[in-house]
Amino acid sequence: MVECVRLLYVSKFTQNDDVFKTELMNILMTSVDHNALHEITGVLSYGNGYFVQCLEGEKTKVSNLYFDRILKDSRHKGCQILYFEEQIERIFSEWAMKFAPINPSIRAFFQLQYAQEFNPTLLTARTIGPFIKLLAQQNAWEYYI
Ligand code: FAD
Repeated sequence: MVECVRLLYVSKFTQNDDVFKTELMNILMTSVDHNALHEITGVLSYGNGYFVQCLEGEKTKVSNLYFDRILKDSRHKGCQILYFEEQIERIFSEWAMKFAPINPSIRAFFQLQYAQEFNPTLLTARTIGPFIKLLAQQNAWEYYI
C-alpha cells in the first residue's frame, strides 16, 4: 500500500522584495508542473518575509521534493519542518500547488493565538492543524498576486 504523508515547513525569503512576484510566479509554475506529475498536492503561503508550505503525497515523492529540491533552493533559507504526518487523507486534493497570500483571516489567526503579526515559525502542535484547515478555506491566487 502506498503511504501518503503531509509535511509542513517554514522558511524565509532571501531575495529582495522587488523580485518577489517574479520569483513566486517561477516557483508556482515549476511546482504545478512537477507536483502534478508526481501527484503531490498542497498550499504555499507567504507574508512578512516568511514562506509556509504544506505538501501532501506519497512519502518518497514528498521527501524527494523537499530534500532534493526545495531545501537546496537559495531563494529561501532556514527551512524548518514543523509537522509531518503519515496516513493522511488529502486536504488539498484539487491543488498541485495552491497559493494563499496572507489576508485578514490569516492575520486574525495569528493575533488570536499569539498576539503577533503573521509568523508561521510560531506554529505549534496545537495550532498547526487549525492553521492548515484555515489555509484550505482560503481563495487561491494560483499564479497572480
Ligand atoms: P534546477 O532548475 O535544476 O536547479 C538546481 C538547483 O538550484 C535546485 O536545487 C533548485 O532548488 C535551485 N534553484 C532552481 N532555480 C533557482 C533560482 N531561480 N534561484 C535559486 N535557486 C534555484 N518546486 C516544486 O517542484 N514543487 C514545489 O512544491 C515547490 N515549492 C517551492 C517552495 C518554495 C518556498 C521555494 C523557494 C521553491 C519551491 N520549489 C518547488 C522550487 C524548487 O526548490 C526547485 O527550484 C524546483 O523544483 C526545480 O528543481 P530542479 O532540481 O529541477 O532545479
